[in-house]
Amino acid sequence: MARYTGPVCRLCRREGQKLFLKGDKCFTPKCPVEKRKNPPGMHGASMRRRLSDYGLRLREKQKARRMYGIFERQFRKYFALATARPGVTGTTLLQLLESRLDNVVYRLGFASSRAAARQIVRHGHFALNGRKCDIPSALLGEGDVVHVNANSQKNEYFKIAAERLEAVAVPNWLSLDREKLEGKVLALPTRQEIDADLKEQLIVEYYSRR
Ligand code: SF4
Repeated sequence: MARYTGPVCRLCRREGQKLFLKGDKCFTPKCPVEKRKNPPGMHGASMRRRLSDYGLRLREKQKARRMYGIFERQFRKYFALATARPGVTGTTLLQLLESRLDNVVYRLGFASSRAAARQIVRHGHFALNGRKCDIPSALLGEGDVVHVNANSQKNEYFKIAAERLEAVAVPNWLSLDREKLEGKVLALPTRQEIDADLKEQLIVEYYSRR
């Protein structure tokens, strides 16, 4: 399945909310969602009002997929994994998404979007527990340590990123050593600690009722 390569802001407008796909621009007044509240297409607004229960669940699932940049097949695997684990399925699903290496790199502030984080992970700039890891979907757990490889720290990108890190608010479930360019997972995040505007129960219902 091909990855979506069209304008990402359109995805936000389709969902009618900010999905934070474009890095710094998302936090400026230039964000198209801020400018235009209706989804794309002349019938966008009326379509949203007509959504069935199924449609609402589908949209929530699509929103989560787009936010984390994950294909349907892989997303379904995360759901299966979440249902097999003890606890609240929706929260576990979000924890799995949050514990991906690309998301952790994004949350630590090494990249301004998850797409950018995925790219720098793929380019081999990170190590997981001391070993090079270029797999964005690698799942991290409590105690796992991510750091920028020594060679990559000389890279201009990370020199600039290091300055940006000063202003980054790292979530409570992670810690960041700005000097060493190293982050650690202190614990899996609670639902309150996951900064994602998603109704995960609708996603659970989407997969459970198919
Ligand atoms: Fe574009 Fe970011 Fe705004 Fe979404 S949140 S519309 S990606 S600028």
